[in-house]
Amino acid sequence: MSNLRLHDLKSGYGDITVIQGVSLEVGHGQLVSLVGSNGAGKTTLLRTIAGLIRAASGEIQLDEKHLEKLPPHEVVEAGFMMAPEGKQLFLQMTVEENLIVGSFNTRASGRREKTLKEIYGLFPRLRERRRQQAGSLSGGEQQMLAVGRALMGRPSILALDEPSLGLAPIIVEQLFEVIDTIRQTGLTILLIEQNVQQALEMADYGYVVENGRIAIQGSGQDLLADQNLQKTYMGI
Ligand code: ATP
Repeated sequence: MSNLRLHDLKSGYGDITVIQGVSLEVGHGQLVSLVGSNGAGKTTLLRTIAGLIRAASGEIQLDEKHLEKLPPHEVVEAGFMMAPEGKQLFLQMTVEENLIVGSFNTRASGRREKTLKEIYGLFPRLRERRRQQAGSLSGGEQQMLAVGRALMGRPSILALDEPSLGLAPIIVEQLFEVIDTIRQTGLTILLIEQNVQQALEMADYGYVVENGRIAIQGSGQDLLADQNLQKTYMGI
């Protein structure tokens, strides 16, 4: 059974249609990667699912619930949470305060202390720095914090928008290891990445977005072996 299902979704900005009819599925407990180059529409798609951009037409279903007409806070209540591109942290606030901000929904607020412990278990570095201002963290630590904040909401599906953006390769490796650990807890993950090779290596299934459409889809392994994809996206 799928956790998230999009059917013929269209959305954009004013008269400009960016997402031109996207259908995709993320099964329970799967890690699905959505890859594509700069400007393909990945962020616009995520923001549409999150209710930050209103869908022009089509369907967004999370389990049995339709999301396409819901405001952002109700999408969160339904269980869809994301670590946004650019992280969008409160840089003047402490690490722990940023984490707490993620827990203001009815799924999460009663279990705040327990979830915080779990997040600190996952990210020991965040525990060490919990009283420090978020703005004083390194880029990699800030990305971990953005992921931790989304997890504080106890999502049924976690969406990550370009978590590797701007990070050094060694830090990207560490981040992908943590994402792998999170997926091993059974959480459903939708991973948006320009880092095509790494995103597909860890994916159960992948979609390649070009000009607001799904151009190719398949298992992570099949897509990695696709010669056109290798040429276009992986420099092979
Ligand atoms: P990136 O990884 O660079 O964010 P992306 O695949 O996520 O790329 P989007 O950010 O979704 O792509 O952008 C898709 C298209 O939508 C681009 O042509 C972009 O110029 C356009 N776009 C994005 N934001 C806006 C906006 N606020 N108003 C108008 N057009 C926008």
